[in-house]
Amino acid sequence: MSLRFYIHTMGCQMNEYDSELISGLLRAEGFEPALSAGEADIVLANTCAVRELAAEKAYSYLGSILKKDKKSEQIVVMCGCVAEQDGAGALKRMNGIDLVIGPSKIRNIGGILKDFLKNGRRKDYTGDAKVEWNKDSAIARSSGEKAWVTISKGCNSFCSYCVVPLARGREESRPQEDIVETAAKLIKSGCREINLIAQNVNTYGKDKKGEGDFAELLTRVASLEGEFRVGFKTAHPRDFSEELIQTVESSKKIMRNFHLPLQSGSDRVLKLMNRGYDTKRYLEVAGKVRRLSGSSLTTDIIVGFPGETEEDFEGTLAMFARAAFDSAYMFKYSPRKGTAASKLGDTVPKGVKEERLARLMALQRKTGLANNKPLVGSEQEVLIDSETFSAGKVCGKTLSEKQVFFPAENSLKGFVRVTITSAGPFSLKGEPVK
Ligand code: SAH
Ligand code: SF4
Repeated sequence: MSLRFYIHTMGCQMNEYDSELISGLLRAEGFEPALSAGEADIVLANTCAVRELAAEKAYSYLGSILKKDKKSEQIVVMCGCVAEQDGAGALKRMNGIDLVIGPSKIRNIGGILKDFLKNGRRKDYTGDAKVEWNKDSAIARSSGEKAWVTISKGCNSFCSYCVVPLARGREESRPQEDIVETAAKLIKSGCREINLIAQNVNTYGKDKKGEGDFAELLTRVASLEGEFRVGFKTAHPRDFSEELIQTVESSKKIMRNFHLPLQSGSDRVLKLMNRGYDTKRYLEVAGKVRRLSGSSLTTDIIVGFPGETEEDFEGTLAMFARAAFDSAYMFKYSPRKGTAASKLGDTVPKGVKEERLARLMALQRKTGLANNKPLVGSEQEVLIDSETFSAGKVCGKTLSEKQVFFPAENSLKGFVRVTITSAGPFSLKGEPVK
């Protein structure tokens, strides 16, 4: 009988993609998926290292597996960014972990597991490596209607607080042809939403001579035949081009959400973060996005970066209000081993970080509502999120990625036209157009 595997995914969309890829690669090698960790012969945790709390969750998950479910013969594998960061240290820290595999090595997972089955040697597979993109065609997707498509690996930006360039290595673009072919196949198989993902979509293609840029890639995907939409994440404000706005404007199939992480509204802090733009440049870019009809602007913010003063933070509040973000992911600064900022200490007390976060969240409710209210009365095309039917309601997203709830008698699929009837700070309500 073939061995069964279970993957537990933590963290970002990149990890969700990687988990689907691991699943496909393992199936191709004859392993079979299990429904729970308890039933599996091989348990894999795909981990996130972006903040301390996330990294600790990785260990507590594996700890709980090892306590509850570990049959003597169960193989326990740590993948993802904590694996890359901790390497052999993870094997030392937890005796029950058998294999540690960093993100640059996951495409070899089949071979790595087969070796382990033969020799039983605990080992870490880390370090940066070139990507064999051709292996990505093995991917086993969990959702038929929506798909993540990784368009590049790694990051060359080295924002001073961020562990991603250390955990995922240098940027390497996936060939344009491969991405377009993947998208075409997905659409043929019924996929309605393709999300092109990279740490920074705006630098796509720049590491390869002769490869087109991101605007060209997006144009090609959007020109494919079929009923679908295509979105993209994340766009670094530093590398933002006018051309990207024009490309988005040129097609009704391209999603109109721009996720442009601001991180801080203080020029002094932005410099220390090594973000490569100042507030003036950010507002220029934000203005361009706002002039595009039907667009939304979302962001990431870090509060409590080392040395962040009340005045710096008030700068962030002011920028947040001026850019009037539709929504934001907001984080308390967490020092990460090996990053430039980790040498600056963690000087802002926890209580101050929490208080700043709360003030930002209150502001987000206001800007979110102010953006959503004008949509009341408008008609929107909504793509249903799969399996959201409950209590006579379904949920889907507009082209600008706003969540809409509306009544339905049973579960729905695909695109539905909805009239917006009311607006809240985080979502909209509507009625299907008769
Ligand atoms: N590549 C993406 C996102 C990377 S990580 C980008 O550049 O936008 C996602 C978010 O986590 C970041 O935008 C940042 O806001 C947050 N983050 C990263 N490192 C962090 C740290 N050390 N502490 C707190 N938040 C952090
Ligand atoms: Fe991290 Fe900056 Fe790269 Fe984003 S652009 S992954 S925040 S280093």
